[in-house]
Amino acid sequence: MTLPERSLRVPTDPPYRPKAIVIGAGLGGLSAAMRLGAKGYHVQVLDRLDRLGGRGSSISKNGFRFDLGPTILTVPKVFEQLWADCGGSFHDDVTLTPVDPYYEIRWPDGSHFQIRNTEQDMLAEVKRLFPNDLAGYNKFLKDCEKRYLFGFEGLGRKPMHRLWDLIKELPGFVRLRADRSVYAHAASRVKDPRFRMALSFHPLFIGGDPRHVTSMYILVSHLEKAFGVHYVQGGVQELADAMGRFIERQGGNISLGTTVDEITFKDRRVTGVKLAGNRHIDADLVVSNADPGWTYDTLLRKAKTKRWNSARLKQSRWSMGLFVWYFGTRGTRDMWSDVGHHTIINGPRYRGLLKDIFDKVSLADDMSLYIHRPSVNDPSVAPQGDDCFYALSPVPNLKTNTPVDWAKETPIYLDKMRDVLEQTIPGFSDKIVAQHVLTPKDFQNRYLSPHGAGFSIEPRIFQSAWFRPHNISEDFDNLYLVGAGTHPGAGIPSVVTSSEVLSHLVPAVAKIGAS
Ligand SMILES: Cc1cc2nc3c(=O)[nH]c(=O)nc-3n(C[C@H](O)[C@H](O)[C@H](O)COP(=O)(O)OP(=O)(O)OC[C@H]3O[C@@H](n4cnc5c(N)ncnc54)[C@H](O)[C@@H]3O)c2cc1C
Repeated sequence: MTLPERSLRVPTDPPYRPKAIVIGAGLGGLSAAMRLGAKGYHVQVLDRLDRLGGRGSSISKNGFRFDLGPTILTVPKVFEQLWADCGGSFHDDVTLTPVDPYYEIRWPDGSHFQIRNTEQDMLAEVKRLFPNDLAGYNKFLKDCEKRYLFGFEGLGRKPMHRLWDLIKELPGFVRLRADRSVYAHAASRVKDPRFRMALSFHPLFIGGDPRHVTSMYILVSHLEKAFGVHYVQGGVQELADAMGRFIERQGGNISLGTTVDEITFKDRRVTGVKLAGNRHIDADLVVSNADPGWTYDTLLRKAKTKRWNSARLKQSRWSMGLFVWYFGTRGTRDMWSDVGHHTIINGPRYRGLLKDIFDKVSLADDMSLYIHRPSVNDPSVAPQGDDCFYALSPVPNLKTNTPVDWAKETPIYLDKMRDVLEQTIPGFSDKIVAQHVLTPKDFQNRYLSPHGAGFSIEPRIFQSAWFRPHNISEDFDNLYLVGAGTHPGAGIPSVVTSSEVLSHLVPAVAKIGAS
């Protein structure tokens, strides 16, 4: 995409590189730092954690590496493009392994359905389980592709901070029935309730309620079909580390264990950041990869922000919370051979459970789980012969008058989760030798995520595109935002795309006096 570039004029003598600070080393922040480095800025990345990657970071315990967040990488071309735009070659730095089947979905009646890589395998699977829905499925796939071209390749890669940017796109939204939810769209094409679930649950990957998230998000099915599901060898932590090495090769600095307390400003310009402990770092521009809720409410608490003030943030809907149990099991690598890299276990209810999580904001007794078993493709996650898992349950976030008290609830919920997991990996709990748990409370504390939300602001239609926090602030000319809470949204491909949008907005560095 070609957009007119503004330029920031800097003196050539003595050589001067304007300073850019990036708050947050999530994948959005790291990709923004790479792009700013390539533009000629001197970049400093600051993150409060002790590792890069934000939600994509890992922890190590007892010889096990637990990748805390993303497990599925789709659309590798966003990374290939990022590296290429910055003068590098992605595949020289990062190894991807294609995964097939992508994942297996299981239901309480004992039926199971594999999402496969090739069209032939996929159609065979649909014919086996949902023969009466084959024609509807083929139509659904075409619908997904149209929304991908409009939503991902078009709108998602463009700046959306001017209302006009949105207005131009409205005919497309109307034509593609963006008012309809993902679930309603799937239900309009297929009849079997299990298949409706299988075609509509994807918004949960980015924190949205399939009953309300705009049907534009069915494009995720097309992303998987067209670009595959990949595993990053070494985990997403390795991807984040490769980005960190790239930034350092560009001459940038990374400071971990560093919390930004405030973004400082004068009139319409930010002047830098104040760290916890009061040290000030000056900057010519600042990019925040912290949650926009935290950025506007806390880091800019002394500013009178026009749009994203406390009142508006209070009215916003936030994505669900996540309860994640990470565990390493001794000597089980050859057990449970039917459990692959990615498995989804449905509980007895689909829409009822969504209602509890998103509408009632109350913790249900039943649960549906996503199980990650990276040891299938990556021996480095566990000691030889051992196994590494995580089981993730979508749960309510903390934005309610009666939030779950996770300090009390965690052992109770773990017991319930153990019972569910025992049906898929019998005997696992006796083999556990290392474990870790993250609850919404931990998301709040570790990532400074408002309401402990797993994926920032929920991607509903009136919280997407122009309605979402913009990639350039309304209040300051040199303050930018990237990451899950901004346009285009959550998920690895989107947060990396937010840095592509950013690169269209940040001025190029033009040497004064240079022709
Ligand atoms: C359990 C889980 C599973 C997921 N699975 C997938 C998947 O399989 N595929 C996929 O595509 N996506 C997945 N996602 C979503 C994806 O991981 C996220 O959308 C994405 O990684 C978010 O990146 P981000 O750039 O917004 O930043 P974040 O990862 O949220 O990082 C923000 C960083 O900012 C730092 N920070 C915040 N405030 C400050 C401050 N004041 N000072 C210093 N540092 C600060 C935080 O420490 C953090 O490191 C998953 C998410 C989770 C939680």
